Amino acid sequence: MAAPALVDRHGRTIRYLRVSVTDRCDLRCRYCMAEKMTFLPRSELLALEEIALIAERFIARGVTKIRLTGGEPLVRRDAVDLVRRLGRKVGSGLDELTMTTNGTRLPEHAQTLAEAGVRRINVSLDSRDPEVFRHITRHGDVAQVLDGIAAAQAAGLSIKINMVALKGLNDDQIAPMLEWAGASGMDLTLIETMPLGAIDEDRADRFVPLTQVFDDLSRRFTLTPDHHRSGGPARYWHVAQTGARLGLISPLTGNFCESCNRVRLTTEGKLFTCLGHEDQVDLKAAIREGGLAAVDAAIDEALAAKPARHDFSVERGAAPAVRRHMSVTGG
Ligand code: SAM
Repeated sequence: MAAPALVDRHGRTIRYLRVSVTDRCDLRCRYCMAEKMTFLPRSELLALEEIALIAERFIARGVTKIRLTGGEPLVRRDAVDLVRRLGRKVGSGLDELTMTTNGTRLPEHAQTLAEAGVRRINVSLDSRDPEVFRHITRHGDVAQVLDGIAAAQAAGLSIKINMVALKGLNDDQIAPMLEWAGASGMDLTLIETMPLGAIDEDRADRFVPLTQVFDDLSRRFTLTPDHHRSGGPARYWHVAQTGARLGLISPLTGNFCESCNRVRLTTEGKLFTCLGHEDQVDLKAAIREGGLAAVDAAIDEALAAKPARHDFSVERGAAPAVRRHMSVTGG
């Protein structure tokens, strides 16, 4: 089957697919989810084989990077089978297969990920303080994540720590986190909280602009622009004191949609072309009713409608930009 490249109507070429392999998670981060989340019934989910076939179709059409995410990807029992299957494409179509994880299941799975061809992962860690971590995640044990990080490093995986900056919760821990990450051989990426899905609080109360964080960090560290690109939205700085990188993902204070190269497949088979819009096509229906030809047609339809940019704003009392939580679309 011919495999035309993935170019949207704004001329952006899509090379990066994020796949949410489950919307379930073993943590309940306050800025991400409501405490009592309703998850999708298992009968609604794409089968592993369907995810693999769709992902392989994206690779045939020019995607060179796939990130498995969720929810927590490693709570889906067959997630490692998917990693093994897609890992076979690394070096023959895929440049990189990677994962974003909260780290709790890495002690069991890190070695398998490394053997399957994963080289780098992102581990989300908003605080190393056990009490603060438990508060943010509502019940999590930070020791599990730190064990997971150690297991991943022992397996030879390179790690980037993701930290969402949260006013009054962890903003006083950003500089120590940057020092710890650097000393442990890891880059740190800070993320602005985004208005995705209803939670039990007002996100405006916790929003910290990374422009302000950057100014604060600049007074303590020598930060110089680093031209490293990881294929995603982060912009990087080299931290002279640690030798590691600081990444900033600033969807609110520094829109990066112009260079967007991403689309997202949810665990129920919806393809979203923008985190901040409701536009989607149903690849589950397409693959079940018309096979890969129908998947191709649906992908083309989605790209033709990919929005130019998101319209996020975090203002007091504002409704979320979209009803979907990040855990559904895939962070
Ligand atoms: N469970 C995995 C994890 O914790 O990394 C993967 C999914 S999680 C949704 C992916 C990333 O999205 C995490 O770094 C998380 O902190 C971030 N995230 C979740 N909701 C967010 C929001 N509303 N704004 C900004 N980042 C968010």
